[in-house]
Amino acid sequence: MSRPRIIIVGAGFGGLAAAKALKNTPADILLIDRTNHHLFQPLLYQVATSVLTPSQIATPIRSIFRKQKNTTVILGEVTGVDEDQKCVLVSDADRQNVPITYDYLVVATGASHSYFGHNEFAEYAPGLKSLADAEAARNKILQTFELAEAEEDPARHRDLLTFVLVGAGPTGVEMAGALAVFVRTTLKSDFRRINPASARIVLVDMAPRVLGPFSESLSEAAKHRLEKLGVEVRLGHSVDQIDADGIVVAGERIASKTVIWTAGVAPSPAGKWLNVEMDRAGRVRVQKDLSVPAHPEIFVVGDTASLDQNGKPLPGVAQVAMQQGRYAGKLIHKRIVGNPAPGPFSYFDKGTMAVVGKGFAVLQSGKVQISGFGAWLTWAVVHLQFLATSSLRLSVFLQWVWTYVTGQRGDRLIVNQHGAELAKPAADATIKPAFAGR
Ligand SMILES: Cc1cc2nc3c(=O)[nH]c(=O)nc-3n(C[C@H](O)[C@H](O)[C@H](O)COP(=O)(O)OP(=O)(O)OC[C@H]3O[C@@H](n4cnc5c(N)ncnc54)[C@H](O)[C@@H]3O)c2cc1C
Repeated sequence: MSRPRIIIVGAGFGGLAAAKALKNTPADILLIDRTNHHLFQPLLYQVATSVLTPSQIATPIRSIFRKQKNTTVILGEVTGVDEDQKCVLVSDADRQNVPITYDYLVVATGASHSYFGHNEFAEYAPGLKSLADAEAARNKILQTFELAEAEEDPARHRDLLTFVLVGAGPTGVEMAGALAVFVRTTLKSDFRRINPASARIVLVDMAPRVLGPFSESLSEAAKHRLEKLGVEVRLGHSVDQIDADGIVVAGERIASKTVIWTAGVAPSPAGKWLNVEMDRAGRVRVQKDLSVPAHPEIFVVGDTASLDQNGKPLPGVAQVAMQQGRYAGKLIHKRIVGNPAPGPFSYFDKGTMAVVGKGFAVLQSGKVQISGFGAWLTWAVVHLQFLATSSLRLSVFLQWVWTYVTGQRGDRLIVNQHGAELAKPAADATIKPAFAGR
């Protein structure tokens, strides 16, 4: 008899946890992702602000599963699901919409940016969701300092050195804090014509306070800390416009060449593939065992799923995705080996944290609410623990110690096409290439 086939779409926190929970299951697991790496999204802002390199927060999926013999990793983009034929459609660089059949399906495709109906903002305010986004943000930030140093007219320095972050949730707050420390420590002595510490960092949100999911006192502590670091926090106003010259908020234009979108998230299109009920945010409404109504063989987990617990929707955080992925994997295992099904899924909230600059974080776990260095140490230990491999844990730990002690950061290279273009002589330039003919 052939073994059942389990397809897992997405090797983020949810998909990875599901695949690991199926380690000893007598089944063939196909883990499909459109990238070849598992990404630790909570540290993306550290790549964007040059603390860590991309390879310190991402691991090849294939290497994570090299010892798990029942699991095959496929690099491909899932474009749809046919529930009647029980197959997913997969495209890659070579082929389009190839059907691959399954007995069980776990959808863990995460979320993407939402510009709240203003998709035209995307061109000028890229988000921070993937490694490519983080590298692009890093390139842009570093390049802006180079442009300012090269600029003869000091009047232009201010616009070039104004950085705007739209969205004061955990990502925006962490990014703003890290950027403020970066310009005031790492870059302090590197330039001659400009003073990097004079850079203006503006954090904008329509919400009345930063870090909405945290208590009011922690949110106030985070805002106070940001202001101490020199970040301008503008709350209670939505952004009216974003263009090549900056943003307009509450009727005022803030001139800037670097705007980063750290606001809304939109779920993956899984709900449309499956043709099932979705919540207002577009996430798939799952049942208490995380399966989809009328399809006990299809499970949706993580940021793509919507499930209420104690009357409130579960948040889109890594812990929810990991616990749901593990639950779906165990449930499928029990079905395949003929054991009784587990009880309904229940999320255990271990707490939430956000870092604000150097050596300061806010932490909320049940009734415990702390801010300061202790919270930051806890944040550091927890994040190290959840990195995918022990080599990453060691490498990130050493980099953090080095950065903490010296203020120096790991990855300050500008590596992009734009940089290469800037280096190219103009078409009518008379400069002779130094190495012509080589
Ligand atoms: C900048 C940032 C900071 C964050 N910080 C924190 C934090 O500090 N703490 C916290 O708990 N949470 C944090 N989060 C949220 C957390 O990262 C998410 O909740 C978590 O990643 C959700 O896990 P997931 O498995 O649902 O999706 P993801 O981890 O996003 O994984 C989805 C995977 O699916 C793949 N995929 C998507 N579509 C397809 C397709 N069509 N075909 C094939 N593959 C596909 C993607 O490539 C990806 O690998 C942060 C998120 C971001 C963006």
